Amino acid sequence: MEGGEKRVYDVIIIGGGPAGLTAGLYTSRSRLKTLLIENGLLGGQMTTTEVIENYPGFPEGVTGDELSRLMEEQAKRFGLEVIPEYVVEVKVEGAKKIVKTEEGSYLSQALIVCTGTEYRKLGVPGEKEFAGKGVSYCATCDGAFFQDNQIVVVGGGDSALTEALYLTKFGKAVTIIHRRDALRGTKIYQERVFTHPKINLLWNSVIQEIKGDSIVKSIVIRNVKTGEVTEHPIDGVFLFVGLSPKTQFLRGLVDMDEEGYIITDGNGQTSVKGIFAAGDCRRKLVRQIATAVGDGATAACSTEKYLELKE
Ligand SMILES: Cc1cc2nc3c(=O)[nH]c(=O)nc-3n(C[C@H](O)[C@H](O)[C@H](O)COP(=O)(O)OP(=O)(O)OC[C@H]3O[C@@H](n4cnc5c(N)ncnc54)[C@H](O)[C@@H]3O)c2cc1C
Repeated sequence: MEGGEKRVYDVIIIGGGPAGLTAGLYTSRSRLKTLLIENGLLGGQMTTTEVIENYPGFPEGVTGDELSRLMEEQAKRFGLEVIPEYVVEVKVEGAKKIVKTEEGSYLSQALIVCTGTEYRKLGVPGEKEFAGKGVSYCATCDGAFFQDNQIVVVGGGDSALTEALYLTKFGKAVTIIHRRDALRGTKIYQERVFTHPKINLLWNSVIQEIKGDSIVKSIVIRNVKTGEVTEHPIDGVFLFVGLSPKTQFLRGLVDMDEEGYIITDGNGQTSVKGIFAAGDCRRKLVRQIATAVGDGATAACSTEKYLELKE
């Protein structure tokens, strides 16, 4: 379709995590012609989460896959159109928004950006070479490959703690390496980690290098307090050292903070009229499914108002 006829929508949503699926549910149900563009799995980060215990409505918890499936089904029930493409550029021509993917271009009156975040890389020798060969960023995706193995988890936030707990199902032992002397994660996860018989903690330490042949064999660790460097045989390294927003394709178009999070007002409106942002990709304090869902609903209602006033 590139260069030729462009399909026209009232609203285009980029990203199909909880924020995008909620925005899509609201706009489709309001009879706005909506296209959702998602290059991965619908459900976003939820699809890589084993059990979600803090999303209301599921007293016993719900698996990430099941919650994704339910949100998808509900959004599609009202006619949401979804395509599996990757957005590379957004242009604004007057009130029109042109969204370019690797396959084609789409046109809309309004845009809701729900692109979430991705894992930050550690940036040490061996990380890139051994990605998928012992280095992983997703325990639910790769944990089962490490049956009875020595596993290392890097990080001290919620993702690191929940993933370490999940990995105890497979590994012989799970060691959490954290560069500080206290964890950042939620207290309930900290309690579970501290009392788990398979989990050890290595404080004030960072990975300096990941080594191996065709697969990971060992890691080199540096104690940041003493400077001591040691090498340890291991089978798998799971890295959870923070997140970066997936907003590069919007740089220069909408206002962002220094980390690339999109700045919005309380209604999800960005610095460009008719472009809204929702979920983890916007600057905010709490990045959770419940807040992503709330953002998605808010941005969708703001979009509806924007389109009404425009006409
Ligand atoms: C391991 C882990 C465990 C978690 N556990 C919990 C928990 O227990 N409870 C909780 O509330 N929260 C949890 N979270 C956080 C929660 O998953 C996120 O806050 C939430 O998914 C954010 O939703 P979102 O829609 O903003 O973004 P995401 O879920 O990140 O979805 C964004 C989507 O946009 C797509 N996308 C990005 N860029 C493009 C592009 N250019 N073109 C097309 N598509 C694009 C991505 O493929 C992705 O599917 C967890 C997160 C992780 C990683």
